[in-house]
Amino acid sequence: MTASPSPAPASLADAVALLEAHDEVVLACHVNPDGDALGSMLALGLALRDRGTRVLASWGSRPFEVPSPYRDLPGLDLLVPADQVPPAPALLVTFDTGSVDRLGALGDRVAAAGDVLVIDHHASNTCFGTLNLVDVTAASTASMVVDLLDALGLPLTRDVAACVYTGLVTDTGSFKYVATTPDVHRLAARLLETGIRHDLISREIWDTASYGYVKALGLACARSVLEPDEVGGLGLVWTAVGVEDLERYGLVLADVEGVIDVLRTAREAEVAVVVKTDPEDGLLKVSTRSKGRVDVGSVCVSLGGGGHRFAAGFTSYEPLGQTMERVRAALSDVPHLPA
Ligand code: AMP
Ligand code: MN
Ligand code: MN
Repeated sequence: MTASPSPAPASLADAVALLEAHDEVVLACHVNPDGDALGSMLALGLALRDRGTRVLASWGSRPFEVPSPYRDLPGLDLLVPADQVPPAPALLVTFDTGSVDRLGALGDRVAAAGDVLVIDHHASNTCFGTLNLVDVTAASTASMVVDLLDALGLPLTRDVAACVYTGLVTDTGSFKYVATTPDVHRLAARLLETGIRHDLISREIWDTASYGYVKALGLACARSVLEPDEVGGLGLVWTAVGVEDLERYGLVLADVEGVIDVLRTAREAEVAVVVKTDPEDGLLKVSTRSKGRVDVGSVCVSLGGGGHRFAAGFTSYEPLGQTMERVRAALSDVPHLPA
């Protein structure tokens, strides 16, 4: 049977019925996975395995290497490289993935799978599954997994909670972003009650890096450019990280994810952009952030990517100069939201 996408929103009950009908499931998250992609996938994977389901989990980009902040996560033994994922799984579940292209090398499993359950919170989600659990108000995909576990009647073990917390803390920026509701804090309390070492999880994500990264961060910030007239006068700050920077400091692409979090602090710019060259494919991975006056999600959709309103990205097939010209042009057209 081949999956035929239906954009109809799924209920938790639909997703429960689907998961209960399968004793084998393939899980996939977006390329170059972050804490929410990995955390949400491993959380559901562990809970399903604990109740006897055969589970494989993967992602479709190289290197197939767990980024350093997530190397202590429970459930890493569920992971297999993309080329070991069956070509036509009976049930494929995707996490934190807004569109098929974000599955990279695993994108072809969507059309080949019997059923595809999409679990995601991206505003740009294209509902490519046969069942789509998409909640753009959810703070993280990991929080949606907890709702699903509750509906399945599966326990929130300490290991599952550690994975969920990783997703939640990553996507709320440590409970700072606007999606951090009272329910988010209630969920965090529930997770802490399982006895997880939230301090160690957060230290790995926010407060630990190699000295090489500290040097590369300094270099990237020092060479950044502030363009106050861009974004209709709201200001743009941007920088680039090249393959030579990564090589010089012994880093992989995942190690420089945090550059944007420092660059975006510049008060003078509404929008921050970091353009990173991926050594695996030579393409430019563009990260954008706004402070709330500009919907960078829709800007990135117009540039072929996606994301959330205030945090989004796209892949560019053009050199840096042309890429930045396209970014400036798209940002100059964008409406300004009320302050
Ligand atoms: P990043 O800047 O990589 O941290 O990504 C910020 C947000 O944008 C995340 O929610 C990503 O899933 C999303 N995003 C990043 N790059 C892309 C892309 N090429 N296509 C679609 N969404 C993306
Ligand atoms: Mn993500
Ligand atoms: Mn997410």
